[in-house]
Amino acid sequence: MERTFIMIKPDGVQRGLIGEIISRFEKKGLQLLAGKFLQLDEEAAKKHYEEHEGKSFYDPLLEFVTSGPVFAMVWAGDNVIALTRAIIGKTDAVTAAPGTIRSDYAVHTNFNLVHGSDSVENAEREIPIYFSEHQIV
Ligand code: ATP
Repeated sequence: MERTFIMIKPDGVQRGLIGEIISRFEKKGLQLLAGKFLQLDEEAAKKHYEEHEGKSFYDPLLEFVTSGPVFAMVWAGDNVIALTRAIIGKTDAVTAAPGTIRSDYAVHTNFNLVHGSDSVENAEREIPIYFSEHQIV
């Protein structure tokens, strides 16, 4: 079954939206395989966001994702990547469709609450940054 890596970013944790975000994925019928709190260090953040190195928002992005605890998860289901991206909504809260997490709860592109892998390759690259296989049910 397809898997994806989902991470509630420091703003989502701080604003008490973990339950709300998990609930949306659960109600959709997706399966939670693993979840944990952690504080990202710079090395892990760089690994995760390596594709954005050199972009204007790269340094603020690293600073933001390492600014407080995150809640990292692995989810599974048919088309889980496309489905979770649809539930999360577009990167920019202004153009995210109404009813998506980012439209409903986010204001800024750089504080957009939650990350979801955008491809099978990226999901399988990101999951081991956060979880060893024995931590995934
Ligand atoms: P994520 O990877 O976090 O799920 P995404 O796939 O919607 O988000 P990406 O293009 O992968 O978006 O960008 C990763 C993150 O970098 C975004 O979630 C956002 O926090 C930040 N980011 C992306 N584009 C911009 C931008 N133009 N200005 C500021 N921050 C940005």
